[in-house]
Amino acid sequence: MIKNPFKQALATYRQIVAATIVFSAAINILMFVSPLYMLQVYDRVLQSRSEVTLLMLTIIAVAMLALYGILEWLRSRVLVRAGLRFDRMISDGVFTRVVDTSIKNPQSKSKFALMDIDRLREFLTGSGLISLCDLPWLPVFLAVCFFFHPLIGWIATGGAIVIVIITIANEFMTKTQLSEATNVGQAAMHFSNSTLVNVEVIRALGMESSLRKRWVGLHRSMLEKQATASDRAGALQSFSKFVRMGLQTLILGAGAYLALQGQISPGSIIAASIMMGRALQPVDQVVAQWKQFIAARQAYDRLETMFVEVPEEEDKIDLPTPEGKLSVENLILFAPGTQTPLVRGVSFEAQPGEAVAVVGPSGAGKSSLVRALVGIWAPASGSVRLDGAELQHWETDKLGQHVGYLPQSVELFEGTISENIARFRDDATSEEIINAAKQANVHDLIQSMEKGYDTQIGPGGQQLSGGQRQRVGLARALFGNPALLVLDEPNANLDSEGEEALNKVILSLKARGKTILFVSHKISLIAVSDKALILRDGAMSGFGATQDLLQPKPAAQAPKVEEAKSADENKTAS
Ligand code: ADP
Repeated sequence: MIKNPFKQALATYRQIVAATIVFSAAINILMFVSPLYMLQVYDRVLQSRSEVTLLMLTIIAVAMLALYGILEWLRSRVLVRAGLRFDRMISDGVFTRVVDTSIKNPQSKSKFALMDIDRLREFLTGSGLISLCDLPWLPVFLAVCFFFHPLIGWIATGGAIVIVIITIANEFMTKTQLSEATNVGQAAMHFSNSTLVNVEVIRALGMESSLRKRWVGLHRSMLEKQATASDRAGALQSFSKFVRMGLQTLILGAGAYLALQGQISPGSIIAASIMMGRALQPVDQVVAQWKQFIAARQAYDRLETMFVEVPEEEDKIDLPTPEGKLSVENLILFAPGTQTPLVRGVSFEAQPGEAVAVVGPSGAGKSSLVRALVGIWAPASGSVRLDGAELQHWETDKLGQHVGYLPQSVELFEGTISENIARFRDDATSEEIINAAKQANVHDLIQSMEKGYDTQIGPGGQQLSGGQRQRVGLARALFGNPALLVLDEPNANLDSEGEEALNKVILSLKARGKTILFVSHKISLIAVSDKALILRDGAMSGFGATQDLLQPKPAAQAPKVEEAKSADENKTAS
């Protein structure tokens, strides 16, 4: 059976909710203390004028109220701990799914699921759930009101019905606006987060006002929807307050009238008033927290959908450390959510100790092919195997340890150079990190920096130059001695010294029996490869020994590598 951590967490949470219901029961029973005390004081003590009885009653009432306080405190402690446990049980699963969903659908707003955890936990551990647990006591309190006198019972019931109607009206009048406001708010945040990454471009190209206009548009739309919802909710809340206060007066008046008629005792006037107040309290709270409740329910729905749509990764058998034999068979690839294949029918093999150069014009599908070779995009058809095992058969994190990947845009993360090289693994030793840096020929460069390996590189590594980023990225790819190295234009930002160093790195990797696949247009780099694969419009137009493909051909057959290269250079130049 496939595990669903969300369901498991909810099952555990249900036990805690059961405990909360028991606590709430005891707390609600103790709510009878005040009205009972009032009844006794007015109807017994004032009649008998017994100070001893008053003292005894007061001691008992205070003790019971102390117990009430302790139980309330315990209930909130239990809930807070349950919330932490709930969070622990699902947060790993949510994070994994957010990564997975973002790869499969980069436009998805799945990263907001991380906030949904907080929203749901806050509701489940706060006054939201508590008032829901108190709500079932409403009929009991109402029944006691009827016990005092049917008129008092009807006033309280009428009040409760009015408040419930207000609650339902609140739901209908605010639900759509609130959910639209949340969606637009998320879109605004997504937009600002993604655009602010490129602040320098925004300033240099004078894009500030146009981008601000877009953001302000989204932001205002969210505010308008929120304001409409708040207006409606606010009006209903005020009306509900008026109803409650009016009811208090009404019930005291009715009680006094009934006492004048001799139908109830004077003590009952106060006791009934307190009782009705208690009965309506949770109803009032639910009305006040309706917004939080709707937000929590939406968060719940989104999380539940996410856990259903992205099932738990099945336990995969531990595959032995690969030697690096890469075989690609009839590979067909689509970008997530698109219909046109970006790579069609690519087949080739690379053995440990071999370097394969992938060449072809821009847009030929080189980076897309690379994404499949490191397991980012799953094949739509065909296969990519490492030592005979399809990449999908590997556990993703385990596969990552055997693969070194340097994306075209490098993509370093905020942190220190050593953290980045170590792929943020907290069990990485300095030796492993320095070893990777030395292999990537970047150790001296790092050492020459003021803080060396502890240099903070800022978001996306923006405090490094393009070439430095690429070289640190190469060290990160080499960290952990992976068997397969996939480098997407590793020389794009390098100067001639860097290029020379890169050539040496590739030669030494080959000598150490690693399998290397790199995308490049540079003849000097392509020359160190053993095989070359030429891609054109997503299809393989040639694969073979680099020497053969690089050999100048008779005029009738133009050399493929050169042709691909010049086509690309033309594009780049334009
Ligand atoms: P290359 O690396 O050879 O320049 P790419 O593999 O980056 O080419 O791109 C090949 C084609 O796939 C291009 O036409 C590009 O527009 C398209 N493409 C790349 N990534 C995506 C994506 N995530 N979604 C849709 N199309 C994409």
